[in-house]
Amino acid sequence: MLNTAIGYPRIGKNRELKFALEKYFKHEITEQELQSTAAAIRKEHYGFFTEEKIDLIPCGDFSFYDNLLDTALQFGIVPQRYLKAGLSDLDTYFAMARGVQENGVDLKALPMKKWFNTNYHYIEPEYDGKNAVAFRPVFLEGLIDEANALNLNYKVAQIGPFTLLKLIRFVDNTSACQIKDALVKAYADLIKFCAAKGAKWLSLAEPSLVRDLTAEDKALFVEIYQKLISADNGIKLALDTYFGDIRDIYNEVTGLGFDAISLDFKEGRKTLELVKANGFPKNTILVAGLINGKNIWRSNYESVISVLNTLKEQNINCALGCSCSLLHVPESTETETRLSADVLAYFAFARQKLQELKEIKAIVNGEADADKYLAANKALFSKQRVSENEELNKRIASLTDDDFNRSVNRVERQKLQHKILGLPLFPTTTIGSFPQTTAIRSLRRNFKNGVITREQYEADIAKFTEECIRLQEKLGLDVLVHGEFERNDMVEYFGEKLSGYIFTQNGWVQSYGSRCVKPPVIWGNIVRNEPMTVKMSSYANSLTDKDVKGMLTGPVTIFNWSFPREDVPMKTSVLQLALALKDEVLDLEKAGVRIIQIDEAALKEKLPLRRSDWESEYLDFAIPSFRLVNSDVKPETQIHTHMCYSEFNEIIPWIDAMDADVITFEASRSDFAVLDALKANNFETEVGPGVYDIHSPRVPSVDEIVNAVKLIVSKEDVSKVWVNPDCGLKTRGEKETEASLANLVKAAEILRSEYR
Ligand code: GLN
Ligand code: ZN
Repeated sequence: MLNTAIGYPRIGKNRELKFALEKYFKHEITEQELQSTAAAIRKEHYGFFTEEKIDLIPCGDFSFYDNLLDTALQFGIVPQRYLKAGLSDLDTYFAMARGVQENGVDLKALPMKKWFNTNYHYIEPEYDGKNAVAFRPVFLEGLIDEANALNLNYKVAQIGPFTLLKLIRFVDNTSACQIKDALVKAYADLIKFCAAKGAKWLSLAEPSLVRDLTAEDKALFVEIYQKLISADNGIKLALDTYFGDIRDIYNEVTGLGFDAISLDFKEGRKTLELVKANGFPKNTILVAGLINGKNIWRSNYESVISVLNTLKEQNINCALGCSCSLLHVPESTETETRLSADVLAYFAFARQKLQELKEIKAIVNGEADADKYLAANKALFSKQRVSENEELNKRIASLTDDDFNRSVNRVERQKLQHKILGLPLFPTTTIGSFPQTTAIRSLRRNFKNGVITREQYEADIAKFTEECIRLQEKLGLDVLVHGEFERNDMVEYFGEKLSGYIFTQNGWVQSYGSRCVKPPVIWGNIVRNEPMTVKMSSYANSLTDKDVKGMLTGPVTIFNWSFPREDVPMKTSVLQLALALKDEVLDLEKAGVRIIQIDEAALKEKLPLRRSDWESEYLDFAIPSFRLVNSDVKPETQIHTHMCYSEFNEIIPWIDAMDADVITFEASRSDFAVLDALKANNFETEVGPGVYDIHSPRVPSVDEIVNAVKLIVSKEDVSKVWVNPDCGLKTRGEKETEASLANLVKAAEILRSEYR
């Protein structure tokens, strides 16, 4: 049995690529220096693969920013405006990735989108019909030459034509049809090129196969690959599928004659069933994606081996692989110095997953050390890692329908809240955070590094909070916030206060380009030991006669931005989080907080890729968990939620079913298109579509805001409209924030006089 991986993180153990990129962007290093940093990172990574004797090492998965953008550039899918700038290949590439504004060139970046159901973002390629679609090995040639020079057993790993066609945005009356033939020819040239370079394998990744496919999609896939496979290539062709199973196209895919096909046995719920029911071709290797590329836990070797055995019983020629690229996990546990060895024993980051590939292969092949590997792994899994929390289990088991419903319906509640809160028409508010100035950041750093005491730190945070309240009063906002100065991050802050969470020091995962995130780890059962935000909220409320919103992160968002447990279903942890937050909400209410916002910025993140799975696999517990958090508050307590995106047209009924009283969301960049959909769905929740974009330092004019709200009012009952920015203000400067909010308040005043 062979082993292989689909891809490896590229940011470097100490985020070397991130820092080199940032220097290159600031012109502090040359292209040559950037290239040599990248080469050093790759060389180290290849070393890990050879150390673990991985049979087929991925090469060509490296990227300076994003693989899909590499692919687009390599096949000539570059809009004319970028080509016209006359930049080098690398700078054209970065111009598409992040925009440029220098030397008389002013180009915006291409849009960034979420890569399937991950928190990695790709750059959306754009085709405008002006440039010829043809293969040119822009970055690939260097990567293959390097692998040859290092004498590696490698496979060239690239994104395939079907997924590329699906993800390109076609503009100026162009279409996928128009470039299909040229693209197939270009991929045929890629295949020839790899063969001529001496590569033995080329694998093409087609994650788009795990989505719902139409008959046309299937025909397109088959047509493309029939052409690519039938050519006598002189190289072995593999297909990588991941992030789910390929239930819509299994028989077509397996019938095409690939030399190897990688199937995802982790997220692909139906993969094993598909293989058992339909068989697998004799002359194709099934690369079984059994090592989880998306999570940080060690694999249970016995269960991996049992799947491999099942496949072998069917006379399938198996190899061992990962469910997806290891890009989505941190690089190595070796740089974690604070977590105990007992804890780290349970973790397998990318580097450790290569060891798992080696060890499981050794066990299956009966090599030396096999017994040792198996025994160590068995010992790990025979221990009870997390002890049961009986009290918590009982609390969850005893939940009834009533626990998920507020006692009074929303329309009645809204009437009551209008009376009690006494807010004007077009109430103004913000989303929560205020600018995180250098003073606040250095205060937090000083506290973390032990330079100042907790008392000093808290006193200073209180001072910033009071200033923030005074500023909002001066500006004339109606519903205030405390500014979130005590929070470094909206998930980590709660994670640190809950038991059940642990934190890595260096567990960075690429989010986009040079940006990384460090998700906390849900280690065990989540319990709130004491109030988390009550002191701050009560303090902020005591400073003013106006209402200050209590501010929490919702259960689904906290979960989606963490590494989850694998020993319990997603639902268990989300319910535990919901109960912890429920207690917090009730404590806030008891402390006199009349408006509570529960942010669900990442609600959509784990929405299944297939529509048919949305409800049964996710929304059926995600939405109730949110309801559970606030079901027991009094009808007059106003519950807000916030979402960072407006692309929720397809799930509007579910968002309304969260049963919040008010929702604020991003809308200014999408021209309020979502408002039509809200109307069509009889959306009941009051709405605060962001009236300006906080992602830019631009100050919106009063007129602009008035016009935006008028547009909203043309589609929404005037008594249900709030006026607010589209997200938290923490990344903005103080000056522009003050000016923008002053205009926002002025706009609301003008609107009130017109609509009264
Ligand atoms: N309340 C948070 C803030 O204002 C919300 C952030 C978010 O939506 N990402 O910062
Ligand atoms: Zn937001």
